[in-house]
Amino acid sequence: LIEVKHLSKSFGEHTVLKDIDFSVNKGEVICIIGSSGSGKSTLLRCVNLLEKPSGGEIFYNGENILDDRHDIYKYRTKLGMVFQQFNLFNNYNVLDNCVIGQLKVLKRTKEEAKEVALKYLKTVGMDQYINAKPRQLSGGQKQRVAIARALSMEPDVMLFDEPTSALDPEMVGEVLKVMKDLAGMGLTMLIVTHEMGFAKDVADRVVFMDQGVIAEEGKPEDIFNNPAQERTREFLSRVL
Ligand code: ATP
Ligand code: MG
Repeated sequence: LIEVKHLSKSFGEHTVLKDIDFSVNKGEVICIIGSSGSGKSTLLRCVNLLEKPSGGEIFYNGENILDDRHDIYKYRTKLGMVFQQFNLFNNYNVLDNCVIGQLKVLKRTKEEAKEVALKYLKTVGMDQYINAKPRQLSGGQKQRVAIARALSMEPDVMLFDEPTSALDPEMVGEVLKVMKDLAGMGLTMLIVTHEMGFAKDVADRVVFMDQGVIAEEGKPEDIFNNPAQERTREFLSRVL
């Protein structure tokens, strides 16, 4: 579905990603792990073109989306993004948060958009709160609405950047449960996370990043129980 080749990214003199090769297959759940500053967020932001890669190629269904002729706005609508800080529209209620992108970007009718929004609010267990404003919700609830908002655009891939890192510990579980449900529904997901238990349990593949490169990737059981690289072992011994 997505294939990244020789991707690099520098901020001025500072090289943050070096020669990244990796791919996302349809239906796959990939967890990206690694220390702070290793380039995980930058990789996600390059994949959805929130950052312009300095070099390399990104193919989406075989088409090079960094090619000038490619419509990057159309590409972006195929990717749903969930951030650490929710980024909900605070002056809109829950339902409108999930409707507005569908109206503006997908040009759906209001009726259709509401129907789709309700469907996904149900999926994340937030359909009882359609009239609430974000400030009336807990962190876990806000994040579930943010997930429903992204799902309402019916993307091909969902990208998550540490979706539970800003949450109080007692709310982490409800968000991880929703994400696990989505994985069970066959959604394609690329997830940056510090939740090693979740990665072990839900990922089809784990990617370990270190200092701007993919140091190791593989099945969760191999990465967690029998890492090939010393630096993977060292990282895991710090976080597990
Ligand atoms: P964390 O776990 O803390 O979120 P990360 O793995 O997501 O870390 P990135 O946010 O991708 O790491 O950052 C990688 C490096 O790139 C860091 O050294 C960071 O300072 C640098 N960096 C990221 N964004 C920018 C930017 N817009 N301008 C300059 N440097 C940046
Ligand atoms: Mg980050």
